[in-house]
Amino acid sequence: MTTFQELGLQDNLLKAITDLGFETPSEIQEKSIPTLLASDTDMVALAQTGTGKTAAFGFPLIQKINPENRKTQGLILSPTRELCMQIANELKLYSKYEPQIHTVAIYGGASVSDQASQIRRGAHIVVATPGRMQDMINRGLVDISHIDFCILDEADEMLNMGFYEDIKSILSHTPTTKNTWLFSATMPKEVSEIAKKFMKTPVEITVGTKNSGSKTIEHQYFLVQARERYQALKRLSDANPDIFSLVFCRTKRDTQSIAEKLIEDGYNAAALHGDLSQNQRDLVMKSFRSKQIQMLVATDVAARGIDVDDITHVIHYQLSDEIETYTHRSGRTGRAGKTGISMAIITKSELRKVKSIERIIKQNFVQRDIPTGIEICEIQLFHLANKVKKTEINHEIDRYLPAINELLGEETKEELIKKFFSVEFSRFFNYYQRATDVKKVSSSEFEDREFSNDGGSTRFFINLGERDGFDWMQLKDFLRDTLALGRDDLYKVDVKESFSFFNVDDHLADKVIAFFENFKLKGRHINVEVSKKESKKSFGARKSFRGDRGGFQNQKRSDDFGKFGKKKAFDKKPGKKGFKKSF
Ligand code: ADP
Ligand code: MG
Repeated sequence: MTTFQELGLQDNLLKAITDLGFETPSEIQEKSIPTLLASDTDMVALAQTGTGKTAAFGFPLIQKINPENRKTQGLILSPTRELCMQIANELKLYSKYEPQIHTVAIYGGASVSDQASQIRRGAHIVVATPGRMQDMINRGLVDISHIDFCILDEADEMLNMGFYEDIKSILSHTPTTKNTWLFSATMPKEVSEIAKKFMKTPVEITVGTKNSGSKTIEHQYFLVQARERYQALKRLSDANPDIFSLVFCRTKRDTQSIAEKLIEDGYNAAALHGDLSQNQRDLVMKSFRSKQIQMLVATDVAARGIDVDDITHVIHYQLSDEIETYTHRSGRTGRAGKTGISMAIITKSELRKVKSIERIIKQNFVQRDIPTGIEICEIQLFHLANKVKKTEINHEIDRYLPAINELLGEETKEELIKKFFSVEFSRFFNYYQRATDVKKVSSSEFEDREFSNDGGSTRFFINLGERDGFDWMQLKDFLRDTLALGRDDLYKVDVKESFSFFNVDDHLADKVIAFFENFKLKGRHINVEVSKKESKKSFGARKSFRGDRGGFQNQKRSDDFGKFGKKKAFDKKPGKKGFKKSF
């Protein structure tokens, strides 16, 4: 096994590394550090989130900085304020035994003049978000015209966030003699274009397969009906009493409302999204890091840069439309050699997305069922029992013992145990006794079309109408275009004076709801709501393929019921396999 020493790092760094508790280099560190130390080269390095990329560029950078020269020698661009601060902090730890080296972080949401004066005092290394960097260059507050190293960290994220123009412009203020090191978890087209355009024959390093998910993460999905998403989330949390999780939603609004609901329901939850002030965000992150928050509900943008190592579960409350996002989200768990679980709560219409993700991460998902109330109660009970067993006795209680004995002395040990457990346990038990279990949804599309009654159509209300200049054809075109739907996906458009109705097939309903969640047209909030569920047959929808096999399938179905009795057949969970066989 290679050691840090063998990579060519100097004593002062080695001492700092020992203090950090790093024992052996990670793969990306092993591959990049010797090259960066030994030669003046550009580099493109690809590795999963959580594989130690910061040190992969940070160690060689620190070693190559000349502390005697006061000019800014290294510039690190990183996508978010949180990441900037983290990187700057890490670099300070790396350079602990090189106290002459100064690192300054500049990012939005904090005072420009404070940051400018820190730069004036001397900054060998500047860690910046592209936006604030551009701003400070424009105001002449920072000079990067003589840097030797420019690092684009989390390049894919920066481009994702639309920083291309800023990066381009910032780079135009740097000398052509510098070396550029690009670090990224994924290599989408935009990143390779940046590499092509701004780098000179970079050395390329890839750890693991490009775009692949980390092997330390187990990927699970849970198939539910859209309206049961929240129940599913609660159950997943209840079934994992020690959960320390990031929950991803697609919109700020969902993020906020899911967090609020969780809090109302007694969970240690909080929201993290762009509408919060920096101050609020810092507070949330602080409580999360210290584990006062067990479920942090976040948008993708806000969660960028969250670098907390012990996250046990990443929960995709909704999947993102971009498949790349999945990798970023799930990479927040299974970090630093730990294992983690990524759980996607999906509806049937998203199964296809799961398949695409599997291809990209080259790992299969495991389909799991949402735990039943009984299962959760059992888990909670044994969790409590284990906790009791592991608890160290607090002898402060001794002096109250006589009084407590007097109160409880009559009870037998058995009774005491039962009562004691009931204090905690009854809460779950009562709740789950009343709650109906989250319905199991089968993943077989065919079966779904035959047997479930939601192979129909959803009618929507929308607060746009003639008054807004639409006739039915215009509204149909408008909706189809904005929603990127196919020709036949939207029908029965009915335009009234100030509102309208339209239909889509059920499997598209979630998409419509999600899309319009935060949708504004000319500054006005557009409200779209489900008006009712309809059967498609009533208006002659395309059903040839379903019709063809329906007879046989229905026949088979009644046979099964004949054998088991109706209820039992369903309780047995009509699984994929059983039905496949009957074909
Ligand atoms: P990335 O940028 O690839 O997402 P980070 O640089 O943020 O990953 O590192 C992830 C975590 O792993 C950090 O907590 C970091 O301190 C830790 N780490 C990095 N290198 C090592 C190492 N060689 N040994 C142990 N832990 C490490
Ligand atoms: Mg990183």
